[in-house]
Order: sequence, then C-alpha cells, then structure tokens
Amino acid sequence: MKPFEYDRLENSHDLSAVANGRYLGGGTNLIDLMKHQIETPDVLVDVTRAGMDTIEQRDGAVLVGSQVSNTDLAAHPLIRKHYSVLSTALLSGATQQLRNKATTGGNFLQRTRCQYFYDTKRACNKRQPGSGCDAMNGLNRFHAILGESENCIAVHPSDMAVAMAALDAVVLTRKPDGSERRIPAADLHRLPGDRPDLDHVLEQGELIVGVELPEKPPKLQAYRKVRDRSSYAFAVVSAAVALDVEDGQMRNVRIGLGGVAHKPWRASKAEAALEGKAPDTALFMQAMREEMADATGHGHNDFKITLAPRVVVSMLKQLTGLGEN
Ligand SMILES: Cc1cc2nc3c(=O)[nH]c(=O)nc-3n(C[C@H](O)[C@H](O)[C@H](O)COP(=O)(O)OP(=O)(O)OC[C@H]3O[C@@H](n4cnc5c(N)ncnc54)[C@H](O)[C@@H]3O)c2cc1C
Repeated sequence: MKPFEYDRLENSHDLSAVANGRYLGGGTNLIDLMKHQIETPDVLVDVTRAGMDTIEQRDGAVLVGSQVSNTDLAAHPLIRKHYSVLSTALLSGATQQLRNKATTGGNFLQRTRCQYFYDTKRACNKRQPGSGCDAMNGLNRFHAILGESENCIAVHPSDMAVAMAALDAVVLTRKPDGSERRIPAADLHRLPGDRPDLDHVLEQGELIVGVELPEKPPKLQAYRKVRDRSSYAFAVVSAAVALDVEDGQMRNVRIGLGGVAHKPWRASKAEAALEGKAPDTALFMQAMREEMADATGHGHNDFKITLAPRVVVSMLKQLTGLGEN
C-alpha cells in the first residue's frame, strides 16, 4: 500500500487543497482498493468521529447522518416502519460484519465491482482512463444493459442506493467552502459517457453529511435482489418498488433498478406508464418493455433484458395483490 497521510475531519482538514485526497468512512471498500493500489490517495480524512451519526425526524422528514452504519439504519424503527424498502435493501447487502462498519455515505460512494476494474493487468477506462474496456468483450454477465457507453459497461453495486433513488431521498453535502447542496439520490451518480472514471457528481472535497428521506413515502414498498448466493453476493439484478393504490389506481409509482446501469436506474418510463392506472399484469409487462426498449446486452448479460422486467412485474403483482407469479 502506498504511504498516505491520515487526519480526522474534526481537525478541519480541507480536502479541496489535496488533489488526491479521500474521506474515510468504514473503509470496507476504500481500504481494499488501496491495498490493490487501485486507489492511491495521498491523504485520508477520517469522518467517522465527527458526529453525523444520528437518525432524527425533522418537519416530518427523516434525517440520516452519513456516519450511521448500514446495520443501524436498517434496524431503526422509523426506517423499518415507513421506509421498509430501504431496510430490506440494506439487509440484502454484504454481511452483518460489513454492515456494522459500512456507513451511509460510504455505501453511496462505493466503487464498482467490475472484475476488470479490480484486475490491474486488464484494460479498464474507469481505473485508467484511455486504457480500454476488457469487459466489453469479456466476462460481462454482471454488467450494464442501460445507459452504458463504448467506454464502460460497469454497474454501480450498491443495494442501498437503489432504494434511496426509488424513495426520492435527497443527499445532503457540504463543500470545503462551507456551502451546502441538496442532491436527489437518483442524480448523485452519473452515467459513464466518455468519463467513466467519474462515478458521481460530487466535487473534490465535497462531503456527504447526510440523507433526507421524504415525509410521505408510498405505503407499498418492496426490494428484491436476484443474486448468485443468498449472502455475500452483489446483485445480478435488483429492484426497489414503491407505490400507493388509491381508489383502485396506482399513484406515486417509483421503480429503481440495480445491477443494470452505471448508476441506480430510475425506471421513469415504466413509472409514467403505470401512474394513475389500475393494477394489471399485462400493463406491468408493457410498462417494463417500454423501459427496456433501449437496453443492450453484451453477450453474457443479455438475459438481464428479460430478467429485470420479470422481477419488477412479479413485485408489482405482489404489492398490488394480484398474486406473485
Ligand atoms: C465482501 C463484500 C461484499 C459486499 N456485498 C455488498 C452487497 O451485496 N451490496 C452492497 O450494496 N454492498 C456490498 N458491499 C459493499 C459495502 O456495502 C461497501 O463497502 C460499504 O457500504 C462502503 O461503506 P464504507 O463506509 O466502508 O465506505 P469507505 O470504504 O470508507 O468509502 C467508500 C468511498 O466513499 C467515500 N466516502 C466515504 N464516506 C464519505 C462521505 N461522508 N462523504 C464523501 N465521501 C465519502 C470514500 O472516500 C470512498 O471513496 C460488499 C463489500 C464487501 C467487502
């Protein structure tokens, strides 16, 4: 591991002046990347002892500090009662030990699990811009089918972020100059385009201080994760679905997809096709077909184009009482 300077946020370390600095949350992803020399920061600023570790209700919304662990967030009574999709998503991720260490902020900004990103002998535009993408014609079973570019087909690996996107959560940040930003969770990450090395829209030194969960989330919520093992496995495809059914019509329909894109994918075309309509299996499938109209497989991951709609249709049927299969 390359030597680095260590400091703590409470010492007011300003990361804006350090071109290659990183905040340190639970370290469950960043430290691994440093051991592999994939991330080589000059400075680590530990944010875990600077507060930001509470969950509180304010004006109806729920504010989650960025240092709340994945375990504590999943188990909190408010989250379990009103944001069960988030609790379920968190509990489907990693393992108990990892969730105890992993933080809310760090979970958002964990990096892709594309094997070519981790293998420093392989070409990867995300790790080394301009080097190429060995995943494109390689083992790409886990890779993107939506929003990818010729430069990168990696997917974002977080389960939590998919649920946050579907809940219309807002990420709260602070820049080094002290100014604050509110970023919709669905807009925090970016598509690869010609800069796949950039995962998100945060500026150098911008700190995630917390997340705001909306006051009135939809009542019907579910998270489902299709994966190769029941534990210790990232999503092949996952979905977070939330909606209300009022007077026989679907309202506030929100669908987030994981394992399909460089960012948690809001299925906005499908949402629009379902909004205000009566639950109906054929309509569910039609809506998801529309969502998948631009999906592209890369060989090993072609199956995701049919798997993702099936997962969502099954969940919508279950949530609206039409049965499960
Ligand atoms: C074996 C294994 C299996 C896993 N399985 C899953 C899974 O199934 N699903 C899943 O979703 N995840 C999974 N994970 C990933 C795990 O959830 C992440 O490693 C964890 O959430 C990262 O949180 P952290 O606090 O440890 O982040 P760190 O490793 O500390 O940081 C990650 C990134 O976030 C940045 N960062 C951290 N905090 C802040 C902040 N407050 N503001 C700005 N930047 C910040 C860091 O600089 C770094 O770039 C797995 C991990 C492992 C090792």
